[in-house]
Amino acid sequence: MAKVTDMVLLNKPGEKILLLGNHAIARGALEANIAVFAAYPGTPSSELTDTMAAVAKDAGVYMEYSTNEKVAFETALSAAWSGLRSMTAMKHVGLNVAADTFMSAVGMGVEGGFVVMVADDPSMWSSQNEQDTRVFGKFANVPVLEPCSVQEAKDLTKYAFEISEKFKHMVILRTTTRSSHMRGDVVLGELPDEIVNKVRRHGKFEKDPKRFVDIPAHSRNFHPKILENIEKIREEFANCPFNKIEGNGKVGIIAPGLSYAYVKEALSWLNVDDVKILKLATPFPVPYKLVETFLEGLEKVLIVEELEPVVEEQIKMWAYDKGLNIPIYGKNIVPRIYEMDTKRAVIAISKFLGIETPINFEELDAKYKEISSVLPPRPPSLCPACPHRNSFFAINKATRKKAIFPSDIGCYTLGVLPPLNAVDTTVAMGGSIGVAHGLSVAINGAANEETYEKKQVVVATIGDSTFYHTGLPAIANAIYNRSNILVVIVDNEITAMTGDQPNPGTGETPHGVGKRIPIEDVVKAMGADFVEVVNPYDIKKTTEVIKKALEVEGVSVVVSRQVCALYRVGKARKNKEKLPLYKVNTDKCTGCKTCIVTFGCPAIFWDAENKKAKIDPTMCWGCGSCAQVCPFGAFELVKEAE
Ligand code: SF4
Ligand code: SF4
Repeated sequence: MAKVTDMVLLNKPGEKILLLGNHAIARGALEANIAVFAAYPGTPSSELTDTMAAVAKDAGVYMEYSTNEKVAFETALSAAWSGLRSMTAMKHVGLNVAADTFMSAVGMGVEGGFVVMVADDPSMWSSQNEQDTRVFGKFANVPVLEPCSVQEAKDLTKYAFEISEKFKHMVILRTTTRSSHMRGDVVLGELPDEIVNKVRRHGKFEKDPKRFVDIPAHSRNFHPKILENIEKIREEFANCPFNKIEGNGKVGIIAPGLSYAYVKEALSWLNVDDVKILKLATPFPVPYKLVETFLEGLEKVLIVEELEPVVEEQIKMWAYDKGLNIPIYGKNIVPRIYEMDTKRAVIAISKFLGIETPINFEELDAKYKEISSVLPPRPPSLCPACPHRNSFFAINKATRKKAIFPSDIGCYTLGVLPPLNAVDTTVAMGGSIGVAHGLSVAINGAANEETYEKKQVVVATIGDSTFYHTGLPAIANAIYNRSNILVVIVDNEITAMTGDQPNPGTGETPHGVGKRIPIEDVVKAMGADFVEVVNPYDIKKTTEVIKKALEVEGVSVVVSRQVCALYRVGKARKNKEKLPLYKVNTDKCTGCKTCIVTFGCPAIFWDAENKKAKIDPTMCWGCGSCAQVCPFGAFELVKEAE
């Protein structure tokens, strides 16, 4: 199978190839002659970022993994100010991080086209909340484009650059988990000469303080200009080639983005074809002229949209002002929470049309429940040999679990699960240290207060990438305000959860070696009261160091560094190296279950027949941690690494 990079860079206009939604967006950006791309990885947007990293050198594009979404946004925005076409990508919560610059920069406009790709996650498959970026677009007065197919993901990306440049206004390209991760045929367009010939383009910044310095005297002019621009874009969207009216009938359905595909499928399940459809790729601003044409001759209309009533509110407000009295249905029929699917569309449309559903969904749901109840549950867990397990195990040992454990966003959030139970709070990227500090000053007070008394131990855990993302200001705050907390930075030397991207702790960049910034140097320079680096595979030493750190008054930092097991094993397998293997010596195993109930490596299971622990050799990655956990020395190395 051809590599994704080869496919995305394939210079064969007219050729049809199978692409993932995110890969198609990368191709669309290349066809649009993108020059700069900056992003922080976040599922479900990561494949776009990784593809851009992989093709950057071969396409003459400057690409960087920025330390967070705000920095990425600013990097790409400034490139657009300098006349280059640029893009940033993030998951929905990433836009919250970038929001400060995002909101203020809208009125400054852009010179080169600037596209902000934001991937939402309805149903929260890998996110902490369910947020609809279209609301953000409407709030900030930034146009939002939303594809309904993989082909459209590519073509709409190109269109987004054109609109942005034409109106000198940034544009959001909004996807969802489904549209980012679906696969489909894509007909390739032309690649510009600069991309084919790997020409690295450079911008030119024209100074204009009235435009680029947002002091109140300047910014006051922005808002009217933004609103004027949005109305012009609304007019433009009436002729957007990705919006279309199809079908005939006395009733109509408006379907933005991917909902269009569900509506089409639902209508075929229902065997209904006398419905007029407005397919909308521009949920904000809604082109009222097109809606007006669509509504002609209709008796009622249903808006089928996922999550918030963004299109519905715009249309209802406009219809009210116009004095239209056509009944408009939306969130009174269509669910406002979780992901849209064909079943939901079928139920909503059948209610709207007053017809029976072709399938008894209640019966089907009951059967599904019955079948799934007999299947063994498969809860998520940290990988075998994961160094995070060891860090949590050592924290539990050192504190005897008598501490509060704020944690953060990353694989290590799974430390919340039994048997580790070492995560008490997780709220947002970088939130662990701020929460730890807040809890400590609330319960103990700050060390420079007269009433200070250490009543409660607070131990925060945060990953390396998250530390650079938003942990830095939080730790500066905790040190400055004389907090008394322990911060364990679980440094697996990669941004593992989103697919092994580099970060300042690794020092790698898509363009070669960057500059590595060791975490311990940063926290020492900030004035942390205790800093030590440990290898969590040495559980005894790690536990001792954590105990020592807990005795120090102030902000202590333990950097628990060991490379991600999945990354290490993947590399070993690629190099055809054999991993070490452990097994249980059944003569020594007493069946105490310590290894299972306190440590919980998924390669270890309980052999109920023999009442002994057992290792699944297909899952053991030979880290040797179990040998340190068992009080009876029952785990033995049976095969060395080769
Ligand atoms: S392997 Fe060790 S820790 Fe696990 S059940 Fe046997 S004796 Fe207990
Ligand atoms: S050596 Fe032990 S702890 Fe490590 S992966 Fe194998 S079974 Fe799990």
